[in-house]
Amino acid sequence: MSEDGGVIIYTSGMGARMSRTIVTTASLSAVASASRLMPVRMLGTAGAPVNLYGLHDDEMVSMLKEWGQPKFRAKQLKSWLYDAPAVTHIDEMTNLPKALRAKLVEHTTLGEMSVAHQQESNDGTRKRLWQCHDDALIESVLMPYADNRRTACISSQVGCAMGCTFCATGQMGFKRDLTETEIFEQAARFAAELREKDERLSNVVFMGMGEPFRNYDAVLGAARRIMTDLGIGARHITISTVGLVPQIRRFADEGLEVKLAISLHESTDEKRSSIMPVNRRWKLEELIDACHYYVQQSGRRITFEWALISGTNDDAATAKRLAALLRGLKCHVNLIPLNPTRGFDGRPSSLPNAEAFIKVLESNGIPATVRVRRGIDIDAGCGQLADSASKELAIKKITSRDRRRAS
Ligand code: SAH
Ligand code: SF4
Repeated sequence: MSEDGGVIIYTSGMGARMSRTIVTTASLSAVASASRLMPVRMLGTAGAPVNLYGLHDDEMVSMLKEWGQPKFRAKQLKSWLYDAPAVTHIDEMTNLPKALRAKLVEHTTLGEMSVAHQQESNDGTRKRLWQCHDDALIESVLMPYADNRRTACISSQVGCAMGCTFCATGQMGFKRDLTETEIFEQAARFAAELREKDERLSNVVFMGMGEPFRNYDAVLGAARRIMTDLGIGARHITISTVGLVPQIRRFADEGLEVKLAISLHESTDEKRSSIMPVNRRWKLEELIDACHYYVQQSGRRITFEWALISGTNDDAATAKRLAALLRGLKCHVNLIPLNPTRGFDGRPSSLPNAEAFIKVLESNGIPATVRVRRGIDIDAGCGQLADSASKELAIKKITSRDRRRAS
């Protein structure tokens, strides 16, 4: 056991072949000299506690073993994290010995992100602004539905580098990738809070800030943990991408049942490239080819997302072109009236226009629905999370607090 009880997680290899080893700070120098090992996460060196949500099963077992605990303690601890009833403090984990609880309090933490701001909409939608360890701000949304579904919309990056002109996150630019743990924790914390009310998180969509396939390994790692630790089935998880062709093909080969959504929004290269720069790299033909490959490999249906912009992409000719583009593809079109953002002057289509658009698609054999905009009174539309007065206020609050701390 190390002097301060801290643990550091090392990794060797890359991607799926990555294997991780836990070492205590005491045995650190011996391990660090092995060149194939590189530190990925410094968890729990003195002063930096281990985030319990960041531990994989084997890591939890190793940490407790280092502390001289039997294997079943890991099961007990995990049950506190992911099964009912939820606890907000380690001291409430009553079946763990007092000495172990004290050690956990000293060296670990129940989550590494703090809630900087939260708003609840009239329809029950809860939008949350998280502050990460480096003060980066990200947002998640929890949406309750009448049929008891509870869907979390989570972020994969701080900002986004893809530059879609209509998107608030795109307008703010890219800051950094989120770690697997930061992505997973957004869902895990909502799940724990719901358990307190005897409710259950049932669905997760990767439609918050960022481009999930630009942070592929962390997103897939988090998705796997959402399945194993939160018990949410693959078919209740959706990853939405702007259309990164190589990653769509890679995802098709994963053999996962996680659902795929593609943000399409336009039906010609010229128009799509003008609002989605990614289209200059991967044109519609290549994108649709990759979608066919995904359907072939997975047998699954793809969802195409289409933000309806009044007078721009909501006319009958566009609907016909879209239907032709998607002909023969097992798919569904999800229409979302545009959420207006400060940096883009398009307006949302009216409901009658949206309905007319659906009719043309359906008469051409393409199923489509208009997505209900949740939490619209609090700017909580997915992909619309970055640009709100509430966020600015929270940032101001955090900045002035930091200034006070520094002075
Ligand atoms: N980067 C991923 C996932 C996050 S965005 C992607 O682009 O797919 C989630 C969805 O919200 C995407 O379909 C995105 O195109 C859409 N979106 C972004 N800004 C929007 C806006 N202002 N109005 C309506 N939908 C928007
Ligand atoms: Fe990024 Fe998606 Fe927004 Fe495009 S729509 S800028 S990919 S978050």
